[in-house]
Amino acid sequence: MENVIIIGTGCAGWTAAIYTARANLEPLVISGEQPGGQLTTTTDVENFPGFPEGIMGPDLMMQMQQQSEKFGTRVEYDMVSEVKKCEDGTFSLKTTGGKDYQAKTVIIATGASPRHLGLPNEKELIGKGLTSCATCDGAFFPDVPVCVIGGGDSACEEATFLTRFASKVYLIHRRDELRASKIMADRALANEKVEPVWNSQVTEYLTDDEGNMRAVKLENTETGEESELDVKCVFVAIGHIPNTSFLESSGIDLDENGYILQDGHSTVSNIEGLYSAGDVADHVYRQAITAAGNGCQAALDAERYLTDLEG
Ligand code: NAP
Repeated sequence: MENVIIIGTGCAGWTAAIYTARANLEPLVISGEQPGGQLTTTTDVENFPGFPEGIMGPDLMMQMQQQSEKFGTRVEYDMVSEVKKCEDGTFSLKTTGGKDYQAKTVIIATGASPRHLGLPNEKELIGKGLTSCATCDGAFFPDVPVCVIGGGDSACEEATFLTRFASKVYLIHRRDELRASKIMADRALANEKVEPVWNSQVTEYLTDDEGNMRAVKLENTETGEESELDVKCVFVAIGHIPNTSFLESSGIDLDENGYILQDGHSTVSNIEGLYSAGDVADHVYRQAITAAGNGCQAALDAERYLTDLEG
């Protein structure tokens, strides 16, 4: 029987591991599909306090892991497929690797994944001109036209960033007004390389003979008119999907978009002993530092729960 199982290895998961390990709870971390989480797909992280020169995303995650292992964290590279509360108050977990675990308390820190449009050839195009990460892939497309899909802060941030490399950045939005905050929208639209394409939905990704992105097919959402736009890379920035599908049978309360509901300012869920941390429960801030802070909170909540159990 484990004291605490932490599911997920992003900022929230590793911070929860550091805190619970330092409390001598010998946490077990189960890695998830993308060990290290979303920061492993970024380059320079310049806004995580303590690194005035910035730090590479994968390096930051590796250092968090090392820090947690130094205090006794154990790691299993597997995917949790089910979490259930048992009649005796403990939790049983199943993994896709065929393992079963028992724990007194569980912290879910499985993050969120970038949303895609759901077009047919999406999977094959990833790495061939379709991505959700401008910071990772922008530099691979110098002096060519690219596009960003979306109208939120992410889309504007990515569009502005991409002007460092691309010859032209089309910002394709399904309405004629951006959802992004004024400062981000103004910054993107003021850049002469950014050209908004209003009231437009991408309906097809078009490829060249080698299967690389060549253009997108657009449909005007007002008139239904179709057109083609030549781009070498498409950056999709239409939000994220929380990784909670494996919790279907757990009985945990989710909001209408699938994010775990936390009780007030704590990481407590509707199930005693089951906590959440980071982007899996946060669709507002979604920052490395807020996820880390939330991981710390979850560890403290779980520690108190275990102390009460013993008391
Ligand atoms: P978001 O605010 O939810 O925006 C998603 C955008 O994608 C919206 O413009 C939406 O269109 C569009 N969209 C959604 N589904 C679509 C579809 N199927 N086809 C075409 N377009 C679609 O997501 P986000 O930009 O990732 O931001 C999420 C949160 O993180 C926000 O709270 C944001 O403020 C924050 N954030 C902050 C910063 C920063 O401050 N530096 C940077 C990035 C993100 P509609 O507008 O028509 O709904």
